Amino acid sequence: MSPLLRPSKRAQAIEPTLIRALRAGMGPETIDFGLGQTDLAVTEAVRRDLCARHDEPVRAPYTPNAGTPAARRAVADHVGVEPDQIMLTCGVQEGLAVAILGLCDPGDEVLVPDPGFPAYANLVRAAGASPVPYPLAAPTVERPGWGLDVAAVEERLSDAARLVILNNPSNPTGSVHGEANLRALLSLLSQRQIGWVSDEIYEDYVWEGQFISALQASDDGEGIVLSGLSKSHHMMGWRLGWMAGPSETLRALTPLHQHLVTCAPLPAQQAAVIALANHDQAMAQTRAEIGGRRRQVLEALGDVGLGSPPRSAGAFYLFVDVRPWLSKFGTTRAMAERLLEEEDVMVIPGEGFGASGLGHLRLAYTIGGEQLSEGLGRLRKFLMRH
Ligand code: PMP
Repeated sequence: MSPLLRPSKRAQAIEPTLIRALRAGMGPETIDFGLGQTDLAVTEAVRRDLCARHDEPVRAPYTPNAGTPAARRAVADHVGVEPDQIMLTCGVQEGLAVAILGLCDPGDEVLVPDPGFPAYANLVRAAGASPVPYPLAAPTVERPGWGLDVAAVEERLSDAARLVILNNPSNPTGSVHGEANLRALLSLLSQRQIGWVSDEIYEDYVWEGQFISALQASDDGEGIVLSGLSKSHHMMGWRLGWMAGPSETLRALTPLHQHLVTCAPLPAQQAAVIALANHDQAMAQTRAEIGGRRRQVLEALGDVGLGSPPRSAGAFYLFVDVRPWLSKFGTTRAMAERLLEEEDVMVIPGEGFGASGLGHLRLAYTIGGEQLSEGLGRLRKFLMRH
């Protein structure tokens, strides 16, 4: 590599994800339980709007940095805040970058969930700050899902702690944080004068229990909620997300967003107005489809010696405890590699999401129909054979 074009320490701080390394071994026929995006088309109202406008002349100007007034209003109404408390972003991914780069200095500590979405720790490192993983509480017989462990967060809050990142419902565990725990954590952070960022991209996928947004659970609102249309309206590639938080904070972060991306894509902002006006109806259909897949997965895995798999209460992930198989395979990565080799089925090893994910595989029920049935059949065969 040319020494003149040597990547910066910031770029080198980004660790390549295990997911990418494993995916390199996939073939054209691989049944893919690895991908965190649905295989569904954009929701009906969005598609109809696109078709209805196909004869109009197309102008494609930049929009105001925080988004068009119409799109900000639509998102604000959806979230239940005022438009000046919303900034539209290029997906939650950019919202995370703006929040982390915009709120953290070198030397700060940022608490990130473990297991958790790998972007959190990587962006914290890119900001020159230090990620401090906080373990989620593993499932028990009494509480079959993963949970928020407030004491584990508290133990890790040093004087350098600047921010706590939450993800609810959670990728990869599929858990939904209970209201009491969430309130207790946010109240602790308020006492300790530490901010929070809550990634709620899976808010529309709640199968069991009650979801409450950190915006509602917080008494002082000293945090930022991130969400968007990628998961709910299957618009992953359109790049539309939002930050919801105190208006003065968003105003202060807008120049960073401006110099990174200028604005969220205009067509996606236009689609957001339509998508959110039809949100409940669209989500009823999506939930029926994805909920059916979830039942199929739970049924298929319930009787292959996995006991009762920790039930996925939210999102579209099942985080399966495969420790009984590890005497044979050693690590979950080795197990995932063998599954790919022997059955051409892709799942993600839990350690790709942090040390607490060891011994688990993440299975995304983002595929349906024949693919899903065939994939589950192969997975069962593999588990029974070993
Ligand atoms: N947060 C989590 C927890 C995710 O799983 C993902 C996508 N896999 C994202 C954010 C990125 O979302 P977006 O498409 O809105 O950038």
